[in-house]
Amino acid sequence: MGEEVALFGGTFDPVHFGHLITARAVAEQCRFERITFVPAASPPHKPPARADTEHRLGMLELAIRDEGLFDICRLEIDRTGPSYTLDTLEELRRQHGPRTKIHWIIGADMLEGLPTWHRVQDVLVLAEIIVAARPPWQQRLPAILNGLTRELGTGQVERIRQAMIDTPLINISSSMIREKVANAQPITDLVPELVNTYIREHCLYR
Ligand code: ATP
Repeated sequence: MGEEVALFGGTFDPVHFGHLITARAVAEQCRFERITFVPAASPPHKPPARADTEHRLGMLELAIRDEGLFDICRLEIDRTGPSYTLDTLEELRRQHGPRTKIHWIIGADMLEGLPTWHRVQDVLVLAEIIVAARPPWQQRLPAILNGLTRELGTGQVERIRQAMIDTPLINISSSMIREKVANAQPITDLVPELVNTYIREHCLYR
């Protein structure tokens, strides 16, 4: 089998156990030896990140420290302008060559917005999308897939359907964490201890 790379893009504002457990579960189920986190400098489909890029990167580094399975790709951080997945994939394709299979992992909440991604059809040529479960997606899935079929065509949606992975459902989001910190509530069970300490020490999300 040729080389395979698996990437997990996001804002990671901050990284949390939902990201980490999902990434580990995808690696186990797909037998990936490594998952590469790709923090976005400037996410095109979301409001700007609350924490500076260097803080988000710092937290990500702490979260994956001592984790042989994970590493970080700086491509989007080192690029100016909106962090389009397509640009990242084109660069990775250049680096790895045509024979490497590139997987791009998304949480199921991202599925619905896929047609709005910059040149999504080209993204789907460059990478295999892997969709990880995220609550409360199950109830909405049929409607979402219908919408996607209209926008992307039956073939692509069938490919996506086959790439859905039954990862553990973890009801944690970065926005939930930011809100808790702002309300002085504990986030101990939501992020690694080192990330919690980092948020406290740098007075983030107050
Ligand atoms: P926010 O609450 O600010 O929108 P988020 O928790 O969704 O942030 P992101 O960094 O935007 O975190 O997400 C990066 C990727 O991780 C996305 O593909 C998202 O769907 C996925 N993801 C985030 N949290 C979970 C979770 N709890 N379970 C599964 N996937 C997740």
